[in-house]
This record gives sequence, C-alpha cells and structure tokens, in this order.
Amino acid sequence: MRRLRVAACAGACLLAAGVARAQSAPRPAAMSWPFRGISGPDSATPIAPPVPTPWTQFDSGSTSRLALLLTDTASAWLGMAHALETIGIPFRITRDWREAVRHRVVFIYPDVSGATLSPEALHALAAVPRQGGTLIANEVLVGGMNQVFGFDRAIPARSRYALQWGATPLTAAFTDSAERTIRLGDRAREPEAQWTVGYTGAADPVATFDDGTAAVTRRVFGGGGSAIALGVDVGALCLLSHDGRDEYISRIYADGYEPVLDVFLRLLRTIYLGADSDAVALGTVPDGRSLAVLLTHDIDYRYSLPNALTYAAYERSQGIAATYFVQTKYLTDWEDEGFFDSVAVTQVRALDSMGMEIGSHTVAHARTFNTMPTGTGDERYPDYQPLVLAANRTEGATVLGELRVSAFLLHQATGKPVLSFRPGYLRNPWVLPQALQATGYRYSSSFTADNALSYLPLHLNYDRAPGAELPLFDFPVTIEDEEQPPLPQRLGAALAIARRLEAYGGTFVVLLHPNVVSFKLAFEQALVDSLRPQGAWFGTVGAFGAFWAARARTGVDVAEDGGRRIVTLDVPGGARGLTLAVPAGWRLAGAEPAGTRAAATAAGVVVTAAPGTVRLVFDAR
Ligand SMILES: [Zn+2]
Repeated sequence: MRRLRVAACAGACLLAAGVARAQSAPRPAAMSWPFRGISGPDSATPIAPPVPTPWTQFDSGSTSRLALLLTDTASAWLGMAHALETIGIPFRITRDWREAVRHRVVFIYPDVSGATLSPEALHALAAVPRQGGTLIANEVLVGGMNQVFGFDRAIPARSRYALQWGATPLTAAFTDSAERTIRLGDRAREPEAQWTVGYTGAADPVATFDDGTAAVTRRVFGGGGSAIALGVDVGALCLLSHDGRDEYISRIYADGYEPVLDVFLRLLRTIYLGADSDAVALGTVPDGRSLAVLLTHDIDYRYSLPNALTYAAYERSQGIAATYFVQTKYLTDWEDEGFFDSVAVTQVRALDSMGMEIGSHTVAHARTFNTMPTGTGDERYPDYQPLVLAANRTEGATVLGELRVSAFLLHQATGKPVLSFRPGYLRNPWVLPQALQATGYRYSSSFTADNALSYLPLHLNYDRAPGAELPLFDFPVTIEDEEQPPLPQRLGAALAIARRLEAYGGTFVVLLHPNVVSFKLAFEQALVDSLRPQGAWFGTVGAFGAFWAARARTGVDVAEDGGRRIVTLDVPGGARGLTLAVPAGWRLAGAEPAGTRAAATAAGVVVTAAPGTVRLVFDAR
C-alpha cells in the first residue's frame, strides 16, 4: 500500500496521512522480511527492578567541591545532584554539618529549619559567609537565619507563577527576554503552582516573584563571603525537567526557547566560580567548543532511505557524522507499508559505511507507544508482529518488542550495537528509561527541549520518577522540521536559538526527516555554514553521549601546593575531549599519567585520558 506522506515524527505532528482512513486494518498481506531464516534476539531482556540511588554515592571528594548539606533525604536531592552534575559543578553530598562547613561553598538543601538543623549547626553555618565562604540555602524557614541572608520574612506559597531576574552581576549573562523572565506555572490552568518561598525586605534581590517577594536574595559580607537564599527548589525543577513531567510551565512545543531550568543551573555555576579564586568546573561541550550540534534524521518512510544517502554524502563531505534513527518496519499496516527489506538493509549499511550512526526509530512507529504494554523482554523477530490498526489502536506491539527487535534487525544490518533511540511522534512511556536500560541502549532523544525546559542533556531516572537514577541520558530535540512556519522561513530563528545556547554551552539537536531533500538539506547546509565558523562541535548522539556519560562520572578536586594548583580528576569512564574551566592566570605545567593529553584552549583545558586518576599541575599567578 502506497501513500504520499510528509513523514511523521514529532509529537505535535498532524501531517501523517491515514487520519481519515478506514478504521479496519489489513492483516499483514505484504511482509518485507529482510532476513529470511534468522530469528532473534535470542537472549531475553526483562526489565530489572529499580535500585534506589543512595545519597552516600555522592559523599566523596575534597573541600574544593560544593558541599550539599542534605537536611532531608525525603526530598528532590537526586534532582539537585543531577542539576550540579549537568552544569559541571564539582560537588559532594553530606548530612554532617561539621563536614559541610569545611568547604568553601555550602548549599543547604532542601530547607533550613529548626526541625532539620540543631542550634549548634545553624550557628556554625551562619559563620560560613562571615569567614569568607559562600552559603547557599534553599527555603530558609527558620527564624534567626533571616538576618544572615538579609531578609525579613519567608513566605511559602503555591500562588507564584513567574520570576524576573534583577540587574546583578550574577545575572548579567541573562540577556534574552526568555531568560530575564521565567515562567513557573500557568495561572489559567493550574489552581496551585509549585511550592515556592518568597522573601520580604531583601535589599537588591537577585530575582523577584510576580507577587513582589524576592525569589533569590544575596547578602555580601566583607572578606568575600556571601549568603544566598533560594525560593525555587532547583532539585524539584530538575526532576520535573529530566523526568519530562512539566505540564504547565512550557508555552511551546519545539523550535522555541524556554530555558527555565538552565538559567538556575547557570546561576549556580556563576555563584560557584565566583566564590573561590581556585574554583574549577566542567564544560558542557567536547573539545572546549561553545556549542554541541547533533544532526539527527528520522527514517520512517520508504523513500527517506535513498534520500538519506544524499544527506549523508553532504555530511561526510563536511567531515560531520550524523545520527539516523531508522524504523525497521517489516509489516504493512494502517500506518504504512513495510519498507525494511533487503534494499533498505543495503541502504542502512551504506549509511553506516559513510560513518553515520544508526539508531532505532522503533518497528511500528505507533502513536500508542506511550500506552503499549511493557512486554516480556522475549519478543523475537519474526514472531513479533506489531500492527498499527488505527491512529490510536495497535495490536501485538510492546515497548520492549519495539526496542529490542528494532535493535536486533539494525545490528544484523551493520554488525554494530545500537545505542541510540528515538520513538515515533516522540511518544514517551513511563517505562522507557528502564526499558532502554534492559535492551542495551544508552542514549535517547525522546523529548523536545522546550518541553523539558532545558537545552542541556537530561539524566534519566527509573519510571521517569525520583528514586533510582540510570546511566542513561536523553538529548532533547531543539529544532524540528514539521511545525509552522515552514522550515525555510525559520533559519534565522533557529540560528538565534543557537546563539543563545552558545552563551552557556548548550546542546543543539536538529531533527530533519529526509522524506524531502531540497529545502531541508539546504536548511542543514545553511546551519552548518553558520555554526561551524563560530566553533560549534558536530557529532552523533552516540559520540556526544559517550562524552557526556563519561563526564557525568568525573570527579574534580583542587589542591594548593605553594604557587601551584593540583587538579585531580577521577575519570572511571576515561576522558574524551573533557573541558575544564580554570581560573584566568593559571598556566598548565604538566599532566599525569603518561599518555594523558591536556591542552590549554580559550575555553579551558581539554583533557583526553584513559580510565583512572589524572593529575594536572598548574602554575597559579
Ligand atoms: Zn518518526
């Protein structure tokens, strides 16, 4: 069965044909079995139960790190850990205030109250800024501490829907209107917004809520100390973002800029780097570049594959590797004809041999992917026969079947493991993180950045809920090709977003369906021509994912040794183009062990090293 379609992928897409089609579906009269006589995968891949992440996993490192003083383990602390990890602030979690006050920067989380901190602890913490340290605290609710932070009263409420940054050195980098004013909820649709704490009587607040109370206060002490009170729970906001649970904050679906989480991450990084003349942080882009650009293509239509070879030829000519998410559709149904046949396999092999990454785009490409049964984990080709019967009706399909059978077929085609996944229509079931984990994937691109409120990678958690982190990351779509206005009219807007992201090392994920070559390839060429001269990094989801996963496990500690500074990196996953932001005036004097490559660039020091411990020596002027 043939039909014209403009290809379909993104969640808001209404362009897929078939909407008005008869509701009865054909049995699979035409099958395009690409591999006769082969079945698999052989081994079962059931989903493992969750393993709760203990906070003690993060209780290591020296006093150069930010100390997160955890006052309540029943909080969004895992989100806070992922927030600090994402923006590259070295941190350690402790429940011992005596340990915390040894650090130059102390962050009390999730609250400061008489119930969670003793008078002795409060006294010691209050001394941190007076002694030149930086004290950050979330929800400062205890009487007496208000004087330390410089406000009169703390008022918890669920009636605050927006926040505006003040004109302070901490927020000078927020220049875009989408950064200056941040939405925290939708008053029209939500009777109650997220809990926030507003502070009254604060001089020169860093940020102000829509009810006039301060959202972020800052009191500066002599000797370089400062005390900063936050009224927005960044840990909870990070979980909302990384678990894809925002329903009311984002105003846009794709192709826009809604950096609600990112401005808070940037604020924390600015505070950390400004707190100590020896502060070192991790960069967010490989090789000291300013922007990570991931060109991705979804193959969900027969004629997209030959077109894809044209895209790949261009990309290869530019020395760029892109990711092709390929649907392995071998049954004909209401959605489309089976097109993953021996010709398709040859084309996938050609893409692979051109240096492109082959990811999975499911078997059935069903709109019901987010409501399908999870499955058993022993679904096997060719017995696994998912059929789309109508827009919202699917038979014989499971989440695990879609993941493992598509990976099996693509592995048969290329001989390489399939590590990256994107669902059709960006339909995202709650079980997706643990289902990806079970079936051998490491990376996904299953969200839009606008919906995730972030233009940085997302650290995935079991069930998309707090509790158990997984070693998996999602790289949400920034720019797609199906929304209005038509793509050719959106080049300037896309480049404007890229420029915003360059300011803080964002991730710019572009989704182009190769169902059309002409204007879409021209769009890609224009993007490459504009972004590359500005120092953007280009690579596949898999390559960037490997960088990001290794970076997430990296520990950074700084020690003083006379006029030298020793930076110790714990890199259990190795380091590949890892970038360190180091203080101006430091000069790289050496790197150990032998074989470690370290080079100073304008953006910082770029390190490539084998797994283990790396020691960098700097002369500090
Ligand atoms: Zn698609």
